[in-house]
Amino acid sequence: MILRKLADAIREQNWFTVIVEIFIVVIGIFLGLQVTEWNESRKDGALEQKYLTRLHSEIEDLIQAGHNASGNLGIGVITNELSRYERLQEVGQFLIGEDTAKPMEQRHCRALYRSHIYFSDTVPMPTIDEMLSTGRILLIGDDELRTKIIRFSQAGMESSLLMDNIRNDRLLLSRIHPELIQLKANDAAGSDAFCDFEAMRGKRSFINDFADNLGRYRAYSELILKPQLSRQQTLHERLDTALNLVH
Ligand SMILES: [Zn+2]
Repeated sequence: MILRKLADAIREQNWFTVIVEIFIVVIGIFLGLQVTEWNESRKDGALEQKYLTRLHSEIEDLIQAGHNASGNLGIGVITNELSRYERLQEVGQFLIGEDTAKPMEQRHCRALYRSHIYFSDTVPMPTIDEMLSTGRILLIGDDELRTKIIRFSQAGMESSLLMDNIRNDRLLLSRIHPELIQLKANDAAGSDAFCDFEAMRGKRSFINDFADNLGRYRAYSELILKPQLSRQQTLHERLDTALNLVH
């Protein structure tokens, strides 16, 4: 219709009408583009909220799992592993004969025979992986939050590499020193393990092997677990702010 009117106006050399018709066409195109853009940005905003909500619930689950024991064969998670490091440090103080050393208990024996076990590895974050692989990470409008999410993923990969080094050639103390650490064949949780702490003090090879595992556990605790907890906490707080959540 407009095009026919425009053609007629050009034929009749009615330049005023030509200009008005062209103006109407341009305004129409402009408004159409604006509506499409507004619609796209509305959809992007809704998708961004969806991703942030999903990520928030993943992080919440992760934090909860990190602080609660799983109950499976007494296998704990992050906080349990951090406390195992504390027990190992106490064993170390006992072995060097420090005056303030705590008396050795069953929990120390348990920490000793499990000193080569690392349960809490880097955890999968499906929402972050999906955002990164599809490029939808760009939907996150807040630059700081977007950087934090990317950094969270990178830190996980770095931790994974470090974890490989820590696990490499770790020592199974109960296998190398069966005369000092004895396990019962029917005791899967190691609750009845026996440790000859006094004899350990006088055995140089055991002390060397113990110090090796203690060093690995220190790296695991200080360079993997604690930073992991702190990253989870920071990202959770940032997500709470973005989603206007108060816990
Ligand atoms: Zn929250």
